[in-house]
Amino acid sequence: MAETSKTSATKAAKSNSALPGVDFDNLRVGMCKFPLGGIDDTPDRFCGEPAVEGSPYCSECAKKAYSRPERRR
Ligand SMILES: [Zn+2]
Repeated sequence: MAETSKTSATKAAKSNSALPGVDFDNLRVGMCKFPLGGIDDTPDRFCGEPAVEGSPYCSECAKKAYSRPERRR
């Protein structure tokens, strides 16, 4: 019998209270305001990483925001 020790270690990571990012109430000045879950959606969660000075976004999201494909011509 060596089966007792391998459960319960892998299932601690996921729960609804551990969603990525922060909601609007927890968004502060200096935190990244990049909306999670799609730019076209009404954002209710934001990145929340420390923003780059002079930017509303952190460095990761700034890349996403400014490399967004533009579809006008
Ligand atoms: Zn961000």
